[in-house]
Amino acid sequence: MPNEKKTIEIHGRPWEWSYVEEGIADCKLSKWQEQKWSPRDALVHRNGGRVSLYVGQKYDADKIDLVEGAWTHDHCQICWWALSEVEDGEHGIGYTNGDGWLCTECYTKFIAPVQEEGKRK
Ligand SMILES: [Zn+2]
Repeated sequence: MPNEKKTIEIHGRPWEWSYVEEGIADCKLSKWQEQKWSPRDALVHRNGGRVSLYVGQKYDADKIDLVEGAWTHDHCQICWWALSEVEDGEHGIGYTNGDGWLCTECYTKFIAPVQEEGKRK
């Protein structure tokens, strides 16, 4: 059945496999650590207010402010689940590779089995 669409469930919602497949393949290349989410510093453009995560890059101090804790949430790279500084473990704790984030469900479902296999080799 070439037109049959494979779906998987994430946070109780059906997702088309083809939609998340690439993200999962990408994330399998990184090492992930469980971590409580906390705000990070961000660069805020004075004109328009665009916010980008500050990771030590150079910026134009005439146009951009470095604001402590201005990065207030991240999204799971696979299912776009929001992670922020809350007590609710589902939203407050995730897995990070030092740059991006994954929700616990995506990590457990898609990434953990692969990482465990890697450790055994
Ligand atoms: Zn997710």
